[in-house]
Amino acid sequence: MVRELLTVDEALARILERARPLPAESVLLADAAGRVVAEPARALVDLPPFASSAMDGFAVRAADTPGTLPVAVRVAAGHPAAAPLEPGSAAAIATGGAVPDGADSVVPVEHAVERDSHVEIPGRAELAAHIRPQGGDVRAGEEVVVAGTRIGAAHIGALAASGVGEVRCARRPRVTVLATGSELRSPGSALGPGEIFESNRAMIAAVLARAGADVVLLPVAEDDESAHRSALEPGLEADVLVTSGGVSMGPHDLVRRVAADLGVEEIFWGVAVKPGKPLSFGVRGATLVFGLPGNPVSSLVGAVLFVSPALLALQGAADPRPVFDVGRARSALRRNAHRDEFVRARRLLDERGVVVEPVSGQESHMIVRAASADALLHVPRGEGRIEPGEPVRYLALA
Ligand code: AMP
Ligand code: MG
Repeated sequence: MVRELLTVDEALARILERARPLPAESVLLADAAGRVVAEPARALVDLPPFASSAMDGFAVRAADTPGTLPVAVRVAAGHPAAAPLEPGSAAAIATGGAVPDGADSVVPVEHAVERDSHVEIPGRAELAAHIRPQGGDVRAGEEVVVAGTRIGAAHIGALAASGVGEVRCARRPRVTVLATGSELRSPGSALGPGEIFESNRAMIAAVLARAGADVVLLPVAEDDESAHRSALEPGLEADVLVTSGGVSMGPHDLVRRVAADLGVEEIFWGVAVKPGKPLSFGVRGATLVFGLPGNPVSSLVGAVLFVSPALLALQGAADPRPVFDVGRARSALRRNAHRDEFVRARRLLDERGVVVEPVSGQESHMIVRAASADALLHVPRGEGRIEPGEPVRYLALA
């Protein structure tokens, strides 16, 4: 039986159109890194709030220079502006100090000589030099961070500087992650015959936490219907349920059937991607349900390519799709006629920039080999090969 598989882009589009932004809540700046802004955050003050000096030096009227001027006042940072500057005088001023009215230039200490309460300024001061005008960065009421922005360090600094202590963000998506497979044992216990260690839940959780999820790990479900049912049912209470394993064609692959019994409407099953082809996606009400294939590398790639973007969309990110970088292939890469491949690769730097090289061991059970990679190299499906030196797209892995 040949099934027509969705392309990666088609699959992602179907996921994203069903990921509606979650309600907003107020978030303290200290907790806001990685959150997505739901409502534009506006400056409460002009920034700078007053004209301030960019240097330690002397505030003067440029027209009074060159010359020797009496130092009429000393202005430290954090003090109210001094009285207006009398013509023919100077104010000693610290970086961040309020420039007195009447001064139109600051001469840095390096360009002045102070002695006996006078300052000698040998050069001609330039109008407006070393003065940061009030509101030069932002005006009160203007947007500091636009809605849909994922908050990074500079955004936090900008919001704090603008007087904004809390920001409205979509709440973090609640995600449940469960693994299926009677062969799975928790790391730390002993393996019996035919058993392997369960490696996917914590790994998937790590990927999704980076995309802003609040993750709860559910127990491992044995490969029988009632175990699946009792594992999936509470998982479906979350915003997103992610399962690993049990979505292929075998007699023990029960996830899709049990999910359907529990009211999950399947949107698609199967993507033209390697690894990760049997990935399934469905919805129950507002809950998104991802069935990732159990091979650990398939689970990893599925979480990165499909689940993380959905989480960003649930948080209202302006563009939740994965951001690819461009480098050059180090060696030839054979294309797959039917599926886009995401090859585990390492980035190297040469004199012309980033070169990307596959790691050895590309089978989808080889998670230890995959762990030596720091990028997923995208080899679009097609005929022939990508030659060494040709441009390639890759997704940086954390
Ligand atoms: P499945 O998708 O259930 O057919 O599983 C595919 C392969 O991945 C099998 O070799 C499973 O033993 C293995 N596998 C499934 N789930 C996990 C897991 N959580 N951790 C490690 N290996 C797994
Ligand atoms: Mg299985």
